[in-house]
Amino acid sequence: MNLRTLELSEWAAALAPVGASDLAVRKLFARVHAHGATDVDALRDTPQVPRAVLDFVVRRGQLPALEVVERRRATDGFVKYLFQSPLGGRVEAVRIPLFDAKYVVCVSSQVGCALACDFCATGRMGFQRNLRTWEILEQVRIIRAEADRRISGVVFMGMGEPLLNAREVLRAARVLSHPAGYAISGRAITLSTAGWVPAIRRYVREGHPYRLAFSVTSAIPAKRAQLMPVERTHPLPELIAAIRDYAEVRKERAMVAYVCIRGVNMGHEDAEALRDAFRGIPIKLDLIEVTDPTGKWQPPTAEELADFRDALQILRAPVVRRYSGGKEIGAACGTLEASSYGGTLLHSW
Ligand code: SF4
Repeated sequence: MNLRTLELSEWAAALAPVGASDLAVRKLFARVHAHGATDVDALRDTPQVPRAVLDFVVRRGQLPALEVVERRRATDGFVKYLFQSPLGGRVEAVRIPLFDAKYVVCVSSQVGCALACDFCATGRMGFQRNLRTWEILEQVRIIRAEADRRISGVVFMGMGEPLLNAREVLRAARVLSHPAGYAISGRAITLSTAGWVPAIRRYVREGHPYRLAFSVTSAIPAKRAQLMPVERTHPLPELIAAIRDYAEVRKERAMVAYVCIRGVNMGHEDAEALRDAFRGIPIKLDLIEVTDPTGKWQPPTAEELADFRDALQILRAPVVRRYSGGKEIGAACGTLEASSYGGTLLHSW
């Protein structure tokens, strides 16, 4: 019994043979997730749980763990964790400081990624495998255990396309948002998708409380196909229609991410294409300057970015520049590749 993977209802079913009450089930679930238990034997101390239930859990339960291979801190306070899974493969997660008051954790959902966006280091790794629910939760548990501030949000913007591992990602999100789990508001959990349309449609039908962020990066199909091969499988009109439905059903602005690349997608024609594509759809546009360690794609100049922001006024929508930190340690958007370089290597806290 992998205690990190079970949702609350599954705990109840697993402990039914020993007649565990709802209270006992909730207490054990909270020990594992809210309190971040690391040792099955330590669960014996859980208050208000009968001995027969504790014996059963300790005898059958397991608490597998990711190993921290490395932590690196960047000068802007971003910390990148490199984890090794006992199931094989290395993944990264990033602790992002927010207003000197709290942290958001950017987690990985896959080892590598099949979607092969041309500006993304993870995409260049190819796809290796989906992470399991517990491996996703472990990234947050370990970072939370070492954090000096509370974790207020989780973003699935690390390695992988979360909607291509939706089952495990959504299971993890439910534990993260459960009051007896990690107690993170569902609205503070964001899944970033490159535009896998059938999964977006399904997500909207199922009505999950977490937000989606849609990586568009160009509203000109040929340009987008060059940068994001997913365009050839699910072209822009299909994606935009799905985003329209998402915004309508949820009655909120859809978060659209735009990776800014010097001399590629920063012109007036790019702003006009965005306006035409999203006409009548409430969006918020996040501008993210590309970080490409290979040097193939360069971030825009300050002048280019300012011009583009001016041109984007025709959208009549909020446009924000998203800070993509931790550049020198390979923690910025699009640079996660299970690598280690730069910054300060942290051995302990
Ligand atoms: S940007 Fe996201 S979807 Fe694209 S290759 Fe990288 S991890 Fe995959």
